[in-house]
Amino acid sequence: MGREGSEGANMTSQDGRRAFLRGRFTARSVMRPFGALPPMEFEEACTGCGDCSRACPENIIMKDSEGFAVINFKKGECTFCGDCIEACETGALGGAQTWLWRARVSEDCLSQKGVHCRACQDYCDEQAIRFQLQTGGRAEPQFDLQSCTGCGACAAPCPVNAIKFSQISQPTEVSQC
Ligand code: SF4
Ligand code: SF4
Ligand code: SF4
Repeated sequence: MGREGSEGANMTSQDGRRAFLRGRFTARSVMRPFGALPPMEFEEACTGCGDCSRACPENIIMKDSEGFAVINFKKGECTFCGDCIEACETGALGGAQTWLWRARVSEDCLSQKGVHCRACQDYCDEQAIRFQLQTGGRAEPQFDLQSCTGCGACAAPCPVNAIKFSQISQPTEVSQC
């Protein structure tokens, strides 16, 4: 079955090549749901059916511009419940259940500019965020990569969308609830 909204019903070799190239260039920048296969395999397997999205109790799985499932932490956090994995019948979420994404802060952070804000810290259950006081009333949020689970709970409360996510190189096993 082709992706919903895509032009063709069946995967052609051209589709496969596009997925291959897309995988090469987006591998490090697109946050797929928990359990996703590596980028190229994921994009070959995901049909854009939306089953994972409907199964997610946090409503954080959207579709990207290509119709593939993508996480949006502006909607909420991932609890690593695994419901998306169970709902996916294509195997696209049948990869290693590791989560390599971790939070970091961008230069848009209000606190770094001297405006009092601790919203991200307030929402972090893991207490992974500490503030390093600086001159001029500024404070820089610092993220402890050992404590951060990459759940995304800190992202939505940030008033200026300053929380970004990057992948670490070493897998960290995440236990399911
Ligand atoms: S693991 Fe659970 S909360 Fe996280 S994206 Fe999947 S269904 Fe949603
Ligand atoms: S919530 Fe956003 S603006 Fe506020 S301290 Fe955290 S990163 Fe900075
Ligand atoms: S991603 Fe989750 S664990 Fe990491 S800093 Fe944000 S709220 Fe805390």
